[in-house]
Amino acid sequence: MRVLVTGGAGYIGTHTVVELLGQGHEVAIIDNFDNGSPVALDRVRELTNGPMEVHEADVRDTGRITRIAQDFRPDAVIHFAGLKAVGESTQKPVEYYDVNVAGSLSLLRAMEASDCGRIIFSSTATVYGEPEYLPYDEAHPIRPISPYAHSKVMVEQVLNDWAAASDGRAALNLRYFNPVGAHPSGRIGEDPNGVPNNLMPFLAQVATGARDRLRVFGEDYDTRDGTGIRDYIHVVDLARAHVAALDRAAATSGAEVYNIGTGQGYSVREMHAAFSRVVGRDLPIEIVARRAGDVAEMSADCSLARERMGWQARLGLDDMVESVWNWQSANPHGYRGSDAE
Ligand code: UDP
Repeated sequence: MRVLVTGGAGYIGTHTVVELLGQGHEVAIIDNFDNGSPVALDRVRELTNGPMEVHEADVRDTGRITRIAQDFRPDAVIHFAGLKAVGESTQKPVEYYDVNVAGSLSLLRAMEASDCGRIIFSSTATVYGEPEYLPYDEAHPIRPISPYAHSKVMVEQVLNDWAAASDGRAALNLRYFNPVGAHPSGRIGEDPNGVPNNLMPFLAQVATGARDRLRVFGEDYDTRDGTGIRDYIHVVDLARAHVAALDRAAATSGAEVYNIGTGQGYSVREMHAAFSRVVGRDLPIEIVARRAGDVAEMSADCSLARERMGWQARLGLDDMVESVWNWQSANPHGYRGSDAE
């Protein structure tokens, strides 16, 4: 298939493009390089030799992305481009709604102008909010807390209406749990701007010595060891979910929603222990107060994705932590430094 990938230079985007090219798809990337790197795409080219074109453009630039879509004529779009930091979204709500919601509307206009009727959208498990029961299934009530989560709910709603408005359209909303890990080559991985918000990239920077210790946000939760539990999913498994979703979108119509996780939760202490094991020393930690907005536990029921898309996660905790350390130790400064300079 011809697949237009927005945000293709980012963490999940690059891993997905590698899988798409490996499966024989043709790819056109749109990225404004706000939180992605051209070096990452050089590395994707190194790992694969499939057809890939790259356009530096903002998804909100409807005229520009319409021309790109009309030239490329995609069979489907995978829409990653967006802002993703929960905490930052409470400081900059207008920016978040503009990029995430207005950006998605702009993309739909470009798709309509190029007769493309299939979209796979990066949604998030944070749309569920405080759990009424666990694991969350797709029928769990939606109660977003942050502007970030609200922006994703809004786009899901737009896609539901867009898919229902015309025969033959398909929109798949993939609700990601906690993506971690890196490509086994160690050439691409997560490279956050500034201080990492998320647990795994923070731990990785403690391991390289770039940060002095991990601050554990609370050990008084009602969980098996008092620290927060999340459903971490290897980014390569997540990338493969998008390849499976393309086939599903070609075979169905209307809007669908899928949880994308493993079904297995790990606590902060368990992640810290696993990472320390891989690095070969006990990484320093400090217990601090809870972080506002965090829930005690999240985990996914992913049976719908297995039944309808034939997809399930295959990589476990060891693959996650080993691949992160493989990437971070070879690229201590991410894409800045090493062969970028
Ligand atoms: N966490 C932590 N210290 C950090 C970052 C995260 O203790 O520096 C905890 C956080 O409270 C949560 C888990 O690690 O229980 C995963 O947090 P992350 O930000 O990676 O994901 P999210 O909160 O989006 O699920």
